[in-house]
Amino acid sequence: MLSDIEIAQSVTPEHISKIAERAGVPQEYLEMYGNYKAKVDYNLLNDHPHEPGKLILVTAINPTPAGEGKTTTTVGLADGLRKIGKNVVAALREPSLGPVFGIKGGAAGGGYAQVIPMEDINLHFTGDFHAIGAANNLLAAMIDNHIQQGNALGFDVRKITWKRCVDMNDRQLRNIVCGLGGKAHGVPREDGFDITVASEIMAIFCLATSISDLKERLARIVVGYTRDDQPITAGQLHAQGAMCALLKDALKPNLVQTLEGTPAFVHGGPFANIAHGCNSIMATRMAMALGDYCVTEAGFGADLGAEKFLDIKCRLAGLKPDAVVVVATVRALKNHGGVPKAKVTEENLEALEAGLPNLLQHVDNITNVYKLPCVVAINRFPHDTDAELELVERKCRELGVDAVRSEVAARGGEGGMALAEEVVRLCEQGDAEGRSASTFEFCYPDDASLAEKIEAIATRVYHADGVDFTPNAKKQLAQLEDLGFGGMPVCMAKTQYSFSDDPKLLGAPRGFRITVRNVKVSAGAGFVVALTGDIMTMPGLGKDPAAVHIDVDETGKITGLF
Ligand code: ADP
Ligand code: MG
Repeated sequence: MLSDIEIAQSVTPEHISKIAERAGVPQEYLEMYGNYKAKVDYNLLNDHPHEPGKLILVTAINPTPAGEGKTTTTVGLADGLRKIGKNVVAALREPSLGPVFGIKGGAAGGGYAQVIPMEDINLHFTGDFHAIGAANNLLAAMIDNHIQQGNALGFDVRKITWKRCVDMNDRQLRNIVCGLGGKAHGVPREDGFDITVASEIMAIFCLATSISDLKERLARIVVGYTRDDQPITAGQLHAQGAMCALLKDALKPNLVQTLEGTPAFVHGGPFANIAHGCNSIMATRMAMALGDYCVTEAGFGADLGAEKFLDIKCRLAGLKPDAVVVVATVRALKNHGGVPKAKVTEENLEALEAGLPNLLQHVDNITNVYKLPCVVAINRFPHDTDAELELVERKCRELGVDAVRSEVAARGGEGGMALAEEVVRLCEQGDAEGRSASTFEFCYPDDASLAEKIEAIATRVYHADGVDFTPNAKKQLAQLEDLGFGGMPVCMAKTQYSFSDDPKLLGAPRGFRITVRNVKVSAGAGFVVALTGDIMTMPGLGKDPAAVHIDVDETGKITGLF
């Protein structure tokens, strides 16, 4: 079998102007980045208002570290929809260099369901992450310079919440001491780096709806506190204008194509375990305006990605999805059923059945908490046996869960036609119980307190018995409510491997509690982040990182990306 990059390199892409034409983007809105990538001017949405198309969210069960194929399914479903004659545009996230060089690999899909040029998309692409990192670090530099120049705003240097960032898994930078070297070289303090995808700038960028909205959000960022706990914002440092100038081109959605020539936006890429995990609202809106169907993805399992897509992105952008696809794999279900990751390629019907509750609970959340129509896509891997696939299908059928096999990695859009037909049916008619975009409900109302929102997510989506707030978290919650941030939605930072905050509790665990140890406001993004378990905002590389296996030859051809 060919590797992802070999398959991607075997296809000659169409010129991006052809893809733009297919998507209905007038040429004057295109800004070319070579022959196969273009940014699309955001004025398109204002100048050519369109009736929005159907919105389809692709989410998944709790994944193994390799990922269970949401991006692959999103791409393949878009190709499948096009194969059955629909006008479709996909909206995906931009990959981060952290996972590209770590264990997970890139985020351009897999097999015959990929967006191309995958090397560019996975590496520097159109420079958006650079722009986001630069804006983030400009703000950091302005904070420390403000302190150096006399600290008129009264920063308590022990309460600076704004960190520097870099788009790399680099644990060495997680905690640092900076400003060393004496009076001329800054005020010494403890600091740390986040990975760029965890920066609030990334979240802001993905939630901004215009340049002026972006600037207002940047101004609202809380960067630290005074000695008497009053917040200090980026606006007080007058940083928003320059930051916005750095981001103005990045804000334009990037247009690329799938291996089959389907238009796809790849724009913005916050992590879903520590940020809200969805591509930009700009790109989603553009894809919905141009396509009758927009297929989009939210990161990790539905407990993180879908919850945040629905409770944060849809709430803030006023979107209502028409259908949800939950991706499941036989390998991850076996892992949830007790099989160690090294053995998930061996047939094991007993473990598979034991792991099914993880899938069923995600489906139940989508249909009964969010009241949306839902279909399971069984993402077929080469080592899956017929007996295993039939077992998942039969169990789903018995329980009234709609499930369809997806073979997009092996067969591209053709392998996604059955899923596409089912998705169209759900979009047009809703499900048998009458669920549709118009029955959509959030997990919690805007006017619940922050603690109540966290409890609602923990009990209704994670199925925890309750939430324990550390004394520190309790103090922070009270402070944030006092400062007027209580009306915001909550962005949970939690492990992606489990419904709980313990990565080892697989399946559909019961009888556990969630511990919230830290709560902070992302005032620019417009949500409050609650950190659970040991979740970190700067990952590290593993023993055998992907970086060791990536190379480039004399002609510039890259190998080893996946
Ligand atoms: P997610 O978006 O859920 O994290 P991806 O779509 O990125 O997952 O897939 C994760 C990895 O698994 C990718 O390297 C992809 O090539 C591979 N993959 C996904 N689906 C299949 C499949 N059906 N067969 C083989 N490999 C697959
Ligand atoms: Mg993905």
